[in-house]
Amino acid sequence: EYELNEDDLAALADDVVEQREALPIMAIVGRPNVGKSTLVNRIIGKRLAVVEDTPGVTRDRVTYTAEWAGTDFILMDTGGWEHNVTGIDLSVAQGAEVAMEMADAIMFVVDATVGATATDEKVMKLLRRTKKPVILVANKVDGPQGELEAAALWNLGLGEPYPVSALHGRGIGDLLDVAVAALPKELPLVDDEGAMRRVALVGRPNVGKSSLLNRLAGSQRAVVNEIAGTTRDPVDEIVEVDGELYTFIDTAGIRRRVHLTKGADYYASLRTSAAIHRAELALVLLDGATPLSDQDLRILSEVVDAGRAIVMVVNKWDLVGEDERFLFERSIEKDLSHLTWAPRINLSALTGWHSNRLKRAMDVSLGNWDRRIATGKLNTFLGELVAEHPHPVRGGKQPKILFATQAATRPPKFVLFTSGFLDPQYRRFIERRLRESFEFTGTPIHISVRVRE
Ligand code: GDP
Ligand code: GDP
Repeated sequence: EYELNEDDLAALADDVVEQREALPIMAIVGRPNVGKSTLVNRIIGKRLAVVEDTPGVTRDRVTYTAEWAGTDFILMDTGGWEHNVTGIDLSVAQGAEVAMEMADAIMFVVDATVGATATDEKVMKLLRRTKKPVILVANKVDGPQGELEAAALWNLGLGEPYPVSALHGRGIGDLLDVAVAALPKELPLVDDEGAMRRVALVGRPNVGKSSLLNRLAGSQRAVVNEIAGTTRDPVDEIVEVDGELYTFIDTAGIRRRVHLTKGADYYASLRTSAAIHRAELALVLLDGATPLSDQDLRILSEVVDAGRAIVMVVNKWDLVGEDERFLFERSIEKDLSHLTWAPRINLSALTGWHSNRLKRAMDVSLGNWDRRIATGKLNTFLGELVAEHPHPVRGGKQPKILFATQAATRPPKFVLFTSGFLDPQYRRFIERRLRESFEFTGTPIHISVRVRE
């Protein structure tokens, strides 16, 4: 019989802390070459390593989870787009605009060795309009002699410049202290009594997001908009779906027709990323009339990676004939074999066909995302499973699962206490069986393992 000691309980408490669903978003804005990605890497490098197992997931390059002094947040790099010379102003400005709408705080990075350029001044004009906290980062201050150059940036009128060297790590701790303190303490908690569910409607351009949003919101929009102060941001919108109100995240970004500039897709993907992180559930739109694309797969991975509930919506089904249907099913089987647990609704935003099936799928996914399995039930299940399928013997040893508990919900996170490291295949096997036995349709689940020496 296995009993938890204090260390184990402390570890569990850590996991429960991870339960905070919506993390604040810190965006990094600045011209090319000022050192944004170096800064991102520097901040990520400070992050405490967590042992986690989320199979089939590739990290995106836009948002990163970060941690400083006990505060978790999302770091959003707005500088990923390759700038052509003529488009620099526009693209930096677009990054700043996305940050102003979607982030909770903004780091504006300037190269102190160059000083403020005309582009910096333009971005500054934009940033002065925002009510969100802006932290002025004077980068490339590699030694004390650079402090003077940094001080010259007081002129920008953004307050104190924080001199750092992203490359050498100088001043990063002080910067993070200030930046993290600027993040809002209280994000709207999803488990507030009666709080509306937050939904991100995501998918690549032209897949039908705005058509579906219009279909769902339809005539109700005028009415629900009168509920004052209920959305977190003017970019969000309350939408009634079959009698229940939901907060749809960043509908402004969906409704706004993206200007056909170079890099427009990149800014759409920044918004997608931020919306996913602020949502509880992502409706991922796919186009039934064309095979899955890399972009579709990236978005799906991002949702899973962020630990959000998911419903796949295959739109434009009115265009899908025998041939397309066959091709589409094939590409689903091939590319989404790791997502068989995600529900899929085929519909047509254009005709409205089957859009009445959405609500139920959303409820199922969110319900499972919230669900907790009692510890006794979980251990009975694992006891039987392990008795039937023990872990293979490795080097004369056989790791045993001593005890398990569900440490968190939203999404469900399980902690296994074991007597040795588990093979990745064996973890996946356990995940599969957990899903089969407890019906976790529509939600990612996490399994972490703590080895008792
Ligand atoms: P981004 O385009 O803003 O993402 O800039 P990068 O992070 O790619 O950095 C551009 C260049 O500046 C690279 O050559 C970096 O090595 C260099 N760099 C970044 N931070 C520093 C720094 O603190 N000091 C110095 N001397 N160079 C830096
Ligand atoms: P968004 O870029 O994802 O917001 O996509 P839109 O909603 O703007 O739709 C892009 C195009 O696809 C428009 O021409 C729509 O009329 C069309 N479209 C959207 N949904 C459907 C659908 O279910 N069936 C068909 N045939 N066309 C659709």
